[in-house]
Amino acid sequence: MSDAARRPETIYLDNNATTAVAPEVFEAMRPFLTTDYFNPSSVYERATPVAAALKASRETVARALGGVRPEEIVFTSCATESVSHAVRGSIRANPHRNHIVTTGVEHPAVHELCRDLERDRYDVTFLPVDRSGRIDVADFIRALRTETLLVAVMHANNETGVVFPIEDLSRLTKETDPSILFLTDATQTVGKVGIDLRGALKHVDLLACSGHKFHAPKGVGALFLRRGTPCRPFLVGGHQEGGRRGGTENVAGIVGLARALTLSLEEHDAVEERIRRLRDRLQRELIARIPCVEVNGEGAARLSNTLNLSIHFIEGEGILYQLNEHGICASSGSACTSGSLEPSHVLRAMGVPFTAVHGSLRLSLSRYTTEEEIDRVVEALPEIVARLRRLSPYWDQSRNRPRSEAEAMMRKDPEHTA
Ligand code: PLP
Repeated sequence: MSDAARRPETIYLDNNATTAVAPEVFEAMRPFLTTDYFNPSSVYERATPVAAALKASRETVARALGGVRPEEIVFTSCATESVSHAVRGSIRANPHRNHIVTTGVEHPAVHELCRDLERDRYDVTFLPVDRSGRIDVADFIRALRTETLLVAVMHANNETGVVFPIEDLSRLTKETDPSILFLTDATQTVGKVGIDLRGALKHVDLLACSGHKFHAPKGVGALFLRRGTPCRPFLVGGHQEGGRRGGTENVAGIVGLARALTLSLEEHDAVEERIRRLRDRLQRELIARIPCVEVNGEGAARLSNTLNLSIHFIEGEGILYQLNEHGICASSGSACTSGSLEPSHVLRAMGVPFTAVHGSLRLSLSRYTTEEEIDRVVEALPEIVARLRRLSPYWDQSRNRPRSEAEAMMRKDPEHTA
C-alpha cells in the first residue's frame, strides 16, 4: 500500500491559518492563469478583458465592504503588506506625531511592526487585555494623546476569535481627535462577518484583509484606504493601483479574492449559523470529555468558527503530532512553527496560567467542515489527551494533591510570581 493510501482522510480544522480555494473561485481565476494572462496595463486589445476584470473586481470588493468607492480599495499581496502599508504610510504622512496605540494581542503583522517602530523611537502603547481577551474601553480612551497619530486594533483575534468593538473604538477615537487615524486588521473577519465601512465602521480609515483566509488563494490581499486619509505609498516603483502600490497586479488572485468575497455573502447567515452550531457542539463535547480544560476567550464575543482550548498539564505540540496521526490538522498557540517554543504572546497577555499556556489548541472551522469531522475530533482528542497526561509529571503531581491544591496549581504561574 502506498503512503498516500495509508494516510487517514484529512480533517482540516486550521482555517484561521489558511483556507481551501473554493471551486467557484478557482473557476473564476482560471482564464487569467491560462488564456487571459496579459498585463492589465498593456495597451493592446488582448489586455482589455484583463483590465476590465481588474476594474470589476475592485468594484465588487468595494460593494462587499459596505458600498465604499472602488478607488478606496488598494490590492496588495497579503494582509501583512496591507498592514505595513497602512502603518508605515500613515507615519510618513504624519511626521509631527510619534505615538501609536495598539493592543498586546495583535497578530505579528502589527505586533512585530510596532516593536520595530519602538526601536526607531516611536512611542507605542500596547493595551492590556483581561482573561477573556478584551481591552478596557476606559484604558483605551486614556491612552489617546495629542501626539497619537494612529490606532491599530484588530477586528478579531486570530488565535482566540475574540472580536473587538471596532465600531465603538473608532467612534471614540474620532470624538477624541478626528485627525488620529484608525486602522483595523480585519484579516479574520472579512469573509466571515459583514463589514460595513459606510455604516457601523464609518470611522475606520484603514482596513487590512487577505484573500486566503476566506477561500481565495494565497498571495493576494487588500487595503481599504478611505478617501482623504493621509497615507504615503509603501511599495513604490510603478503607477499601478492609482499610484499607491507599485507592482504588476496579481489579476487572477484579485479576481479570486473578489469572487470569494461575493461567495461568502451568498447564504452568509445560513453558513454562519451552521458553523457556529458545529463549533458549539465541538466545544460542549470536548469540555464534557476532557477534565481540566478551559475555553480561551469565553465570555467575550467570539468568531463563530474558532475554538481555542487550554488543556492543562500537557504540551500543545504533543497534541498536534497525535492529531496529525488521525489526519486532523489544527494549531497550537505557541510559535513552534517558526522554530521557537515560546508560548503565544496572546495567551500570555490574557494571563493563561503556566500549566495551560503550552497546552493550547486552536480548532478553526470553515463552510466545508462537516458533522462527521466534528465527530471524529470528539472521539480522538479525549483519548490523545488522556495518553499524553499519563506521561506528564505535572498531571501526576496534580492528581496526587487535593482538588483545591490542584486548582491553585492551575492558576499559578512561576514565571509571573516572585
Ligand atoms: N492579521 C491577522 C489577524 C492574521 O490572522 C493574519 C494571518 O494569520 C495576518 C494578519 C497575516 O496575513 P497574511 O498571511 O495574508 O499576511
